[in-house]
Amino acid sequence: MGIIKRVFDFKGSPVLACVFMALFVAEGRRPLRKRVEKRSKRILINSIVALPAFTLLRFLFLPVMTWLANKNQKMGFGLNNQYKAHPIFKGFVAFLLLDYTNYLWHVINHKLPLLWRFHVVHHSDPDLDITTAIRFHFGELIGSVFYRGAFVFLSGATPLTVLLYEIVFEGATQFHHSNWRLPFKVEEMLNKAIVTPRMHGIHHSVIRDETDSNYSVIFSFWDRLHKTIRLNVAQDKIVTGVPQYSDPNELTVGNLLKIPFTKVRKWPEVNEADARELTAEKNMMVK
Ligand SMILES: [Zn+2]
Repeated sequence: MGIIKRVFDFKGSPVLACVFMALFVAEGRRPLRKRVEKRSKRILINSIVALPAFTLLRFLFLPVMTWLANKNQKMGFGLNNQYKAHPIFKGFVAFLLLDYTNYLWHVINHKLPLLWRFHVVHHSDPDLDITTAIRFHFGELIGSVFYRGAFVFLSGATPLTVLLYEIVFEGATQFHHSNWRLPFKVEEMLNKAIVTPRMHGIHHSVIRDETDSNYSVIFSFWDRLHKTIRLNVAQDKIVTGVPQYSDPNELTVGNLLKIPFTKVRKWPEVNEADARELTAEKNMMVK
């Protein structure tokens, strides 16, 4: 049996499905931010958008990553094949490197117009919850095959490390997108090491300066290292989404999949006072 089936399909996927369900229940019981859309509508839209990306993840992304990792081992290429150490230590080094390069990948997804046109589909979500964790355009996934593949190659990660990283990456993405209100002290403590829902909530704000912060995926210290961390925004002040794509009638599945192939709209300046007003309007819509 191939390593993807053994590790990802039979071990990782059931665990991730349980994490998804647990977070879904937790955010329903203890929500962090007020929702502006019905949950059923969000599940439907975000699942359909996710379908092509998820298919590519399983049948293109993972096979390419494990193939590259296998090649590396045979050729003795990549950082981890250049020194002697315990395999667990090497696995840890590769894990950290993959997470750091994903921090950088996220930054360039915001800075390069070609990549932003795909990533904006994820940010256009008017709410932030567990279903946002799967709302990615398939084009973003294709781009990541090249970028992340290059770093699998350069790091010399083994196929097992690559798959373990991917499973933790998906679990962390579910966690920090969830709308689960953790006790503040608990979240503060967790945030010293990992990205948490309040931290990532700020990254999904309509205010550009706030979106341009908190890019880390698993470990939060990459944002601290690059001084891109921002924690001083209260969750009830955040308006989620991107102002240029905020008309709910426009955010249909068909339009979301088309956005990257149309003229991408510029981000209008929204000052804090206007954003607060918008919040009030949105909150009035909450049943
Ligand atoms: Zn982003």
